[in-house]
Amino acid sequence: MNPRDVQQIQNEIAIAWDDGAESYIPLDKLRRGCPCAACSGEQDIMGNQYKAKDLAYKPESFRLVRFDKVGGYAVQFTWGDGHNSGIYAYPYLKKLGVS
Ligand SMILES: [Zn+2]
Repeated sequence: MNPRDVQQIQNEIAIAWDDGAESYIPLDKLRRGCPCAACSGEQDIMGNQYKAKDLAYKPESFRLVRFDKVGGYAVQFTWGDGHNSGIYAYPYLKKLGVS
């Protein structure tokens, strides 16, 4: 599964996959779904989920500055508040695009 094309269209990310499918992900859903440890929390060995801290979103948190493909398996998004530690693997992006 690979994206042929990734584009920002207004307040959505549009991804055209090489299998012909397309995903549209609203930016706020994308940011709230950030998979980094600080946003998604860390799991202990018992499978309990811990949030590192309460997430404080600002308006610029949902403004996309740029995105870069990473290592042929994921996309990294950089947000207006400087946050960019979320690495979104392709299957995860495809899942986010299904509402
Ligand atoms: Zn994050």
